[in-house]
Amino acid sequence: MRADLLRLVPDESRVSEVGSVLEQHGADLSYHQPHLPDAVVFPETTEEVSAVLSYANEAGIPVVPFGAGTSLEGHVIPLRGGISLDLTRMNRIVAVRAADLNATVQAGVTRSQLEAAAGPHGLWFPVDPGADATLGGMAATNASGTTTVRYGGMRAHVLALEVVLADGRVVRTGSRAVKTSAGYNLTELFVGSEGTLGVITELTLRLHPIPDEIVVARAAFPSVESACRAAAAIIGAGVLVTRCELLDSVTIGALNAYKGTSFPESPYLFIETSGDVSAVRELAEDEGATAFESETDPAARTRMWDARHNALHASLALAPGSKAMTTDVAVPFSELAAAMEHARTLLDSSGLRGGIVGHVGDGNFHVAFLLDPDDEASVARAEALNAAVVEDALARGGTCTGEHGIGFGKLAYLADEHADLVPLYRGIKDLLDPAGILNPGKVVP
Ligand SMILES: Cc1cc2nc3c(=O)[nH]c(=O)nc-3n(C[C@H](O)[C@H](O)[C@H](O)COP(=O)(O)OP(=O)(O)OC[C@H]3O[C@@H](n4cnc5c(N)ncnc54)[C@H](O)[C@@H]3O)c2cc1C
Repeated sequence: MRADLLRLVPDESRVSEVGSVLEQHGADLSYHQPHLPDAVVFPETTEEVSAVLSYANEAGIPVVPFGAGTSLEGHVIPLRGGISLDLTRMNRIVAVRAADLNATVQAGVTRSQLEAAAGPHGLWFPVDPGADATLGGMAATNASGTTTVRYGGMRAHVLALEVVLADGRVVRTGSRAVKTSAGYNLTELFVGSEGTLGVITELTLRLHPIPDEIVVARAAFPSVESACRAAAAIIGAGVLVTRCELLDSVTIGALNAYKGTSFPESPYLFIETSGDVSAVRELAEDEGATAFESETDPAARTRMWDARHNALHASLALAPGSKAMTTDVAVPFSELAAAMEHARTLLDSSGLRGGIVGHVGDGNFHVAFLLDPDDEASVARAEALNAAVVEDALARGGTCTGEHGIGFGKLAYLADEHADLVPLYRGIKDLLDPAGILNPGKVVP
């Protein structure tokens, strides 16, 4: 295979079969068991991606697109070997069009690279998953983050895509206009398709003006429920909230140990607003908030958010060497407090260690529990707990995944949530990838 690939990507350093490179592309941060690809290819142009896919399609070789590899449901693990197609060398910012409030980037550009390019124009790209992911990977998982409550996730930001299909054809969806009614919405089909329908090589993304005034506030609450009620009251009062995040007391304890901070070990709400912070304080204190602090200085704000962004790594540090299983349910806003309390009860009675963090502004929360992936009993207990959290979310009118996607870790939950749609997904997959080479075993069983 290497000789064939070197004819298509004629650079020894960009076609690798080195053990450490294969290992890096055969695992993720999650509990899912690794599986190595046979080769890793680092294309630099759309033409190279097209040539590799056309070859693999003819030869029936699986191809797994790879961005930053930060996804959490085994998405990038090449279950059947083949080629891991690493897009990180396609990392060129093609254009920042300040007047149009958009930018075009290659798929391997990371969100922080785009932020650095947009900033000098007074613009920013708000979608901020906790890892510095690639924009191709973020589109492929329909990622979102702390600002979704105000700006929406990836689907709200992708205007146009360049995609290489399984047989090597290159297609362009959408346009640079902010809206279009032209034809079926294939842009939104490829967003969230997890590398199973095509390889995204270029994206045109919406940007936003950086708000003039930003205040970050945080406060401790007597319970998760009171913190959720405060969040609902603040958003319901029409305060312009750009971020609204909840960390439970176990996660706060883990952060104190990991970062040397000394927060009181109770649930915390982190809120960012470009509106009236006194209204935030009043509504939070109505729900029993204490230790209320707020900051406007950019460096101090970054320090405040640092705690939230370190939550997963802090939880993992509670049990060094452990891996995380992370639930990702989202429920209607009115069900959030009860769903989080229920999850905490399930977690406490499971005997597993873990914390709960929530993008409470959009009804999405994560229970991250720690386990040894080689200990079958603890994996089975964690899977049972995960299933119970998902079952509860579905009963409340929610979804099994608000942002992480299906990979292969959530295949069974997708079937529970959308049994009637799975045959349609299969039909779409067969149409776009009849030989089944693109990320096989993910999304569609
Ligand atoms: C600490 C931490 C915090 C996180 N927080 C969040 C969060 O707040 N919100 C959130 O949504 N996620 C979060 N995640 C998960 C992860 O960061 C996102 O899923 C992210 O979008 C993955 O991007 P990536 O570049 O790492 O993609 P990868 O993990 O490399 O790939 C993800 C999937 O997309 C496919 N893919 C990658 N690139 C392309 C491409 N160019 N074309 C087609 N398919 C492609 C892959 O085959 C795979 O199926 C977090 C992860 C970590 C480790």
